Parts: sequence; structure tokens; C-alpha cells
Amino acid sequence: MAVRKLIAGNWKMNGLKAGLAEIAAVRDAVESGSTAHVDVLLCPPATLLAAACETAATGLAIGGQDCHTAQSGAFTGDISAAMVADSGASHVLVGHSERRTLHGEDDATVRAKAQAAWNAGLVAVVCIGETQAERDAGTTLQVLERQLRESLADEATAANCTVAYEPVWAIGTGLTPTVDDVADAHRFMREKLVERFGESGADFRILYGGSVKPDNAAELLSVANVDGALVGGASLKSADFIAICKAV
Ligand code: PGA
Repeated sequence: MAVRKLIAGNWKMNGLKAGLAEIAAVRDAVESGSTAHVDVLLCPPATLLAAACETAATGLAIGGQDCHTAQSGAFTGDISAAMVADSGASHVLVGHSERRTLHGEDDATVRAKAQAAWNAGLVAVVCIGETQAERDAGTTLQVLERQLRESLADEATAANCTVAYEPVWAIGTGLTPTVDDVADAHRFMREKLVERFGESGADFRILYGGSVKPDNAAELLSVANVDGALVGGASLKSADFIAICKAV
């Protein structure tokens, strides 16, 4: 079964209130029907979540970029999945490589965050991917196998969980793997999901992320088992992001 594609934008630590105009422009494109062949998700910073949800309309989903493993408590500066859901968002990214690297999040933490997301009724977009050193050592598939096994809890389903494969060395660098490498990695992840979750493993979305741009989106998104994209830099400008949605 072909999985309906999802184009997700990750604004990272970018976006002030003026950026809501970009979200409105994406909403308008979605409402015009020009992106009707894909699902569209934008993940602005936490400060804009509630306003983004008000700006968005049916067809444009809004997500957080991270959540705590607990739903409330003495965790200054952190945001819980319950808070993300309360803002009106439907999704949350967990385990982005910038969280793993800069905030020391390991697979167990990522797994707990995804579980917190599910407890709050959110879809967890669980990010995985090898570093340059792991790739150079030829261990990409082993890393993906470990991250899939350890970052996904047994309660993961195709409905509550989306996997985002982002080679760390491709994030924000303008570099992308070859189409063959993307195909190999996505086929491998699909096999692992089916091995573990049975037939429903075929329905999990597996997004590709890392330097997706309007000019390479069509090629990357046509690879088998690539069920969408997680877009960083190119999601900040609505014109680029809409172009990527249309490239599917
Ligand atoms: P990029 O970021 O598209 O700017 O490479 C992708 C991501 O980190 O999600």
C-alpha cells in the first residue's frame, strides 16, 4: 500500500511573530488545493505554537519541536507534550539530532518523549540518523537498526508515530546522500519496521530529512519507501516550502 506522503517543516530556533505570515501563506496554499496530494505539517518554535494553530486551518497540521518526558513539574524552561497538545498542535518532533547532540538525549530519552507525546494524544515524529563518523565507519545501517529498536517503544503504531531519517551530516550542509543510499536506508528501515510490527510496519511513514530543497525534492521524494520529507532551512520561506509540497 502506498503511504500518503507528509511534508513537514522544522523551523528550529527561528521565527518571530512576523513569521506567522509564512504560516498563513502555507495555509492558503493548502486551502487552494494545490497541495492536496500530501499532508502538510509545520513545526514552529514553542512561542508561536498557539498562534500558529490559530493561523492554520484544516489541512495544515502544527507540531512542536520537542517535549519533556513528564507532563508537568519542576523543569524550568521545558515544555511538556500536554502543553504542546493544549496549544492545539497535533504532532511533536522527538530525538532530532540537534537535541541528541546538543542536549545529550539518548535513545531511552527519545523513547520516553515519544511515549509522553502519545499519552498527550500527539503523533510523535521520531528522528534518527547516522553521523558522518558512523557513515565513514560503514555502520549506518547498524546505527539505524539500534535507533529504531531503542527509540521506538512497542506501543508505536503507524497512526501515532512517524519515523524521520535524517543523516546528521546532511542536515543544514547542502549535502544529500545519493538516491541509491536513500533507497537502501529506507528499504532497510521498512524491513525492520515490518519485522517488528508485522504488516502494519508497511504503513509507518518514513520521512527523509537533510538539505531537502525545492530543486532536489522531486528526486528524493520519488525514492521507494520515502513517505515524505522533514525540511529545515527551506521550510522558513513559504514559497520554498510550498514548492517542495508541490514537487511530490
Ligand atoms: P535542513 O534541516 O533541511 O536545513 O538540512 C533538516 C532538519 O534538521 O530537520
